[in-house]
Order: sequence, then structure tokens, then C-alpha cells
Amino acid sequence: MEPESADDAALAGCKDKLKHFRIKELKDVLHLLGLSRQGKKQELVDKILAILCDQQDQVSQLNGLTKKPAVEKETVLKIVDETFRKLHSPANSAAASPNQIDSGQSVKPKKKLNGSAQKDVKVRCPCGSSMANGSMIKCDNPQCNVWQHVGCVIISEKSAESVPQELPSSFYCDICRINKADPFWVTINHPLLPTSIAPSKIATDGSYTIQYLEKTFPLSRANREMLQKAEYDIQVWCILLDDQVPFRMQWPLHSDMQINGVQVRVVNRQPTQQLGANGRDDGLVLTEYCKEGPNKIVLSRSDSRMFSLGVRIAKRRSLQES
Ligand SMILES: [Zn+2]
Ligand SMILES: [Zn+2]
Repeated sequence: MEPESADDAALAGCKDKLKHFRIKELKDVLHLLGLSRQGKKQELVDKILAILCDQQDQVSQLNGLTKKPAVEKETVLKIVDETFRKLHSPANSAAASPNQIDSGQSVKPKKKLNGSAQKDVKVRCPCGSSMANGSMIKCDNPQCNVWQHVGCVIISEKSAESVPQELPSSFYCDICRINKADPFWVTINHPLLPTSIAPSKIATDGSYTIQYLEKTFPLSRANREMLQKAEYDIQVWCILLDDQVPFRMQWPLHSDMQINGVQVRVVNRQPTQQLGANGRDDGLVLTEYCKEGPNKIVLSRSDSRMFSLGVRIAKRRSLQES
């Protein structure tokens, strides 16, 4: 990944969000940053952007010396993100109650303004990067609180150009979504953490090209032994990142899977047929194809949307539990 383009993208994303802000939100951001709130609307916007630009220069100068992003810039981006999300959350369309002001303006950002808190920010994104760079969004599950890159999980580059960036009022990370996708299975662990499946490119004739994703994941002896028991299975799952139905699996169109060289059917619907609003795809059970040590899966697909895929070991809930 090129740090410069990531920075540019973050700045562009931030500029887009600031366009949606009223004077109130702009002043909130400046207040949280400890800056003066005087000036006309455009001056307030410029003040916020100035910090980001200054920081960017510094980051470029320091490039090579350190890869760690400047904390202050991240703080600005996060505060802008947070403010933007609040602006668009349905709970906030009513006048802000004193409680909301408390939680929004002092408690949460205070945690992020603290420089050492940067370490506490847990980033786990299907892109595989654990750096907090660019616009970030936090999982709403209070037990999770993981941060992901907006550009990786909310919008594809394509739609970012045409549609103004709107963050959803509620957001769950891919792991939390998969954990809730099937109430009869409990996730035990993740031999392969979620990984993003890039959209297929459009060929010159307008069709989408077939693309391949190859991943290798290890299976320990202990896990292999666990899988001997009837109530455990290892499965590869897939979700559509901006699915209208958050807690279900969905496979790309034209999906085909090879597990350790064995071809396995992924879904029963036609390769060109999209999953309907009430439809549900299943995870692909790998138990009989997996061995101790490295295992290889290859997914081929042709779909312009963004997906996240992972491998998990899950335990069937007993009747008493469910
Ligand atoms: Zn990412
Ligand atoms: Zn989560």
C-alpha cells in the first residue's frame, strides 16, 4: 500500500464529510481539538483541513524514518468520522440530549485524544492492515469495538466517486456479523481471519472477469482433533460487505471453490442469480477436506461487489443451549 495515496484518500474522505457539517458540527470538532471556534463556516473547515495538510507534510518528511502515522492527524480524522456518524445516526435527528453531548463530546473523544490510547485502538480490517490510517469506523458490538477502514468495508472506490460518502448508522464488523449469521453455530476460532475479496473488473465487452483468490491457512493438531468430534466443523464463510441483511452469509456470483485441490460446489443457486432479500447462503464445510498443517483454498468468482471471506471452526449449539 502506498502511504501517500492512502493519505490523499483520507483527506478526500474527510473533506467530503466536512461538506455535510453545519457550523455546529465544525465547532464541535474544533472544540475537541482544543482550537479556536471563531470564524465563518469556510474558515472553520479550512482550520480543520490545515491540520491534516500540515501533518501530511510532516508524515512525508518523516517517511522512511517511521511508518507510524501521526497521532494528531488520526485524532482529527476520527473526530470528524465520529461527528459525521452522529450527524447521520437516526438517534441524533432529534435534538441532542445532554446525555448524547456527554457521550459524544467528552467521554469517547477524550479516550482517542490521549496519545497513548492509539495503542488501545484495535484495528482489524479485511485488508489485513492493522494501522489506523484514513477514515475509520468502529464495530457497534460493545464486546468487540474493533476499528476498520471505511474504504475497505463501506464503499468501493467506484461508488466513492459518484455517491457522497454516507456512513451507516449501525455498523458491525465481519466477524461479529458472521457470529450472528447462524444461531445454531458458535464460533470457536478463526484459522483464517476475514480477508477482503476485491470486486471483479469489467472486461471490454462489459462482462466481469473471473478472478481468483488463493489463501492458505494452518490447522493445528489440537484443532484437527477437535474436528473429529461430531459437534465441531470447520467452514469457509463469505459475506457481502454492504449487504442490506447484515447477519447472513452471501457468496459472490459465479463462485467456485477448490479445497486442497478438490473442487467443491459453493451454492445451489444459479451462478448468475443474486441472493434475494430473504435468501441465505451457507458456509462451506471443509472438515472432510482439511488436514493438519497448511490447507489451501482457491475461490474463483465474477462479481463487482466487495465481500469478506474467512475460515472458522464452529461448534453446533446443543438443543439445551439453543
Ligand atoms: Zn482496511
Ligand atoms: Zn465486531
